[in-house]
Amino acid sequence: MVTLTILGAGKEVGRAAIAVEHKSSAVLLDYGVNFDDNDLPQLPLHYPPAKLKGIVLTHGHLDHIGGAPIFYISRKPEAVATSFTRDVAEIMLRDFLKLSGYYLPFEDGEVAEFLSTMRVVDYGEDVELGSIVVRLRDSGHIPGSAMVEVEAGSKKIVYTGDINFVETKLVGPADVSGLEADVLVIESTYGTSEHPPRREVEERFYNDVLEVVENGGTVLVPSFSLGRGQEILCVLVERGFEYPIYVDGMVRGITELMLERDKFLRDPELLRKAYEQANIVRGWQDRRNAWKEPGVIIASAGMLKGGPSRFYLRKLAKNKKNAVFMVSFQAPGTPGRRILEEGKYTEEGPLVKARVEWFDFSSHAGRTELLEVVRRIKGLEKVVVVHGEPEVAEAFAESVRNELGIDAVVPSNGEKIDLY
Ligand SMILES: [Zn+2]
Ligand SMILES: [Zn+2]
Repeated sequence: MVTLTILGAGKEVGRAAIAVEHKSSAVLLDYGVNFDDNDLPQLPLHYPPAKLKGIVLTHGHLDHIGGAPIFYISRKPEAVATSFTRDVAEIMLRDFLKLSGYYLPFEDGEVAEFLSTMRVVDYGEDVELGSIVVRLRDSGHIPGSAMVEVEAGSKKIVYTGDINFVETKLVGPADVSGLEADVLVIESTYGTSEHPPRREVEERFYNDVLEVVENGGTVLVPSFSLGRGQEILCVLVERGFEYPIYVDGMVRGITELMLERDKFLRDPELLRKAYEQANIVRGWQDRRNAWKEPGVIIASAGMLKGGPSRFYLRKLAKNKKNAVFMVSFQAPGTPGRRILEEGKYTEEGPLVKARVEWFDFSSHAGRTELLEVVRRIKGLEKVVVVHGEPEVAEAFAESVRNELGIDAVVPSNGEKIDLY
């Protein structure tokens, strides 16, 4: 018998963590973190480390790796990831410790231990962890991201991690060719929504940016440092944008890492060219100059919760010539969401006079693509829907049952699923 235990991402987006148990072996698929309304880190449910043979990390976003160092306090289970995920994990975790270290049950030492025990694998390579065999496949979400194929006893499980099924500037679509499994554990972030065609989004974004800049304004694009920031840079440069582009925050170091490990990029030359054209903000002197001439500023953080994007926002918001273009999901309660809905970034704050828009540059599959992923995997007996808001996950599971005739469940955190 094989048992799946949902430790996180059950009826919620993020904090991914699933345990797979077979005989005396156990493997964790991701062990991430979420942040509550007060920005305090929320780890997945506890898992006893005694049987743990390894931790497989699908990609470098904190909601998939943030909690993993907790297992390196007393033991050293083997961690498995692509080379890009390992290197970017270092950047992400160091930053995480800097911001939230006070609230975490682990410190620098455990993070260092975690990183140093990490085994770097290629897509398609078999890794034995006790009686369980795992293999990674490109999941098309960000550079180095992976789905996991798990073989345990007579059962084959596929876990999507975060998955995208359309081509973006940075990466190609997920590789599901010839994939077979008994059970699919699938994310459902956008399980009930359809994304508009990518080219249309890019075109509207580019034209709107040009309009603002040609009128003498500056466009602030608050961006996550891992994935979205680089995507936006490529969209602008590929179309021949001739005004200054400034890049500020962690996006800088991560772009350099992507270029170093460029086999994970769909078009390394495009990102290289884009990064060469960008002006890198290296300190306050640069920062103060960046918004003084018409151009684009790509700065972390993506939801304007902190980082240099806050500084630029205060400078740019007062002038209606400028614009704030959001390019990622804005969670409820974040300054980004408040600007979109109420036109101000704090409750009492001044109104944002700059033009505000939102663009759907998602790196997660929409409903149709997610169903297509399920359809393409042969032999499925059961679909386990995770990493989605409760109503979204339920509705997606119903689509799987009704449209594809496959059993689908939406487990809560703590729930166990036995596979015989
Ligand atoms: Zn995620
Ligand atoms: Zn992700």
